[in-house]
Amino acid sequence: MSLNSFGCPISSEKEYRDGMEEERSDSTKLPGYDSSGLWFLASHFNHSCLPNASRSFIGNFMIIRAARDLVMDEELTMGYVSPGISGDECQKKLSHWGFKCDCKLCRTNRTIPKKRISLQHDLQTIFSTSVQWRTSLTLPQSALDKANRILNALEETYVSPAETQPRLPLFAPLLGLARVYANLNRPRDVITTAIKALLALGFDCSGPRVLRWGLLLHRVVETFLQLAQAYGAIGNNEHRDQGLRFARISYAMLVGESVTFDEVHPGGVPFWMG
Ligand SMILES: [Zn+2]
Repeated sequence: MSLNSFGCPISSEKEYRDGMEEERSDSTKLPGYDSSGLWFLASHFNHSCLPNASRSFIGNFMIIRAARDLVMDEELTMGYVSPGISGDECQKKLSHWGFKCDCKLCRTNRTIPKKRISLQHDLQTIFSTSVQWRTSLTLPQSALDKANRILNALEETYVSPAETQPRLPLFAPLLGLARVYANLNRPRDVITTAIKALLALGFDCSGPRVLRWGLLLHRVVETFLQLAQAYGAIGNNEHRDQGLRFARISYAMLVGESVTFDEVHPGGVPFWMG
């Protein structure tokens, strides 16, 4: 039972909303599930650290959607563990199913360069110690310059392309910076930064249009909404509509349906702007 059952929320939409609320209230709930169950067909899925399918729940329905374009006869894979957990922790969790993952990503994540760890720490310091960031979502220009310099240096610590080794430590800070630029009414900087955030997850984009999907995280939806808002602000309505379209598609991949999208993101704005 413990090998084949799935932990699940009451609905993935609720889980998505709860995630936004936690961020809004700056609280972190201990990870856990509302329920669990057995889905016979789905229990046959193998694990991948870069899965090509995404599962979501509505009550006792499990919905599986492609999380990227698939080639004919490609095996569908799911993540048994959350993306982004460290190499050792990932192996420890996977040992529950009696195997070690030896994919390219796990092999490269086995040794994290010291320089990357120290740069991540520097970046965290900027965001955690800035009162302005915490209270008004702004940062002084000197802090913005410093954050951008660290992010560039952090990117240089990666050798493999983001498609095979997503640069997760870059994603949240880049999205944070995009929020600051949006708040400072600098839409062109929002666009550059939000696209960099998607590239860090292995996406390939032309403007807001996805040419290749990358690692699908909940906040990918917000990234597309941020892009849509910024393109709207510079009068590029075609790109604004594309951004909204990809926000809706990624929402459906994560939540299982898109009918609640307009209710969850009224007016197509990121939650923190609402
Ligand atoms: Zn792996």
